[in-house]
Amino acid sequence: MKKVICHGCAAVVEDIAGQPHKYIGTTQGCWNLYGQILVKEYSEYNYPELTHRLTVDTYAVQHPGQPGRQAIQSVNGHLAGLYFVLVKNTSGKEATERISEILGKDLKFSWLEPPVPNGRKTVIDVLNATSQEEHERNVREWAEDVWTCWYKKHGQTIERLLLESLSRHKS
Ligand SMILES: [Zn+2]
Repeated sequence: MKKVICHGCAAVVEDIAGQPHKYIGTTQGCWNLYGQILVKEYSEYNYPELTHRLTVDTYAVQHPGQPGRQAIQSVNGHLAGLYFVLVKNTSGKEATERISEILGKDLKFSWLEPPVPNGRKTVIDVLNATSQEEHERNVREWAEDVWTCWYKKHGQTIERLLLESLSRHKS
């Protein structure tokens, strides 16, 4: 099978025809691997909430797509998810609630130019896991790797956005 470099995460994946998602900027080969991760989490691992939150958020920000309303909302929302779990140590459930609160507000999200590299770990590293414990560790390492790249480049913007959402929460 011919290989191709995923334009989102730069992983070398199978070159399969298809446009897997409307605004998540990924390749079919990479999307299929992401699907395998989700299947593991939903079935084998009985839906580990915190890890699943990290998986979804990390994949989305590592495949930001092109500037456009949905992609902008998606990247901002998923960055907020990573912030709550990795910086604020919230539960997966709390992060999910906070993301929908933020997205429900009339905040001015802007396109954040993706960092280069956008993390060095990918779905391929995550899929190496042979146990749930290892899977959860791999997902966290992947999430921290990608988050660190975004935070270095856009940390101030992300924190400003979250502060703004908190101040509107109180009023
Ligand atoms: Zn990818």
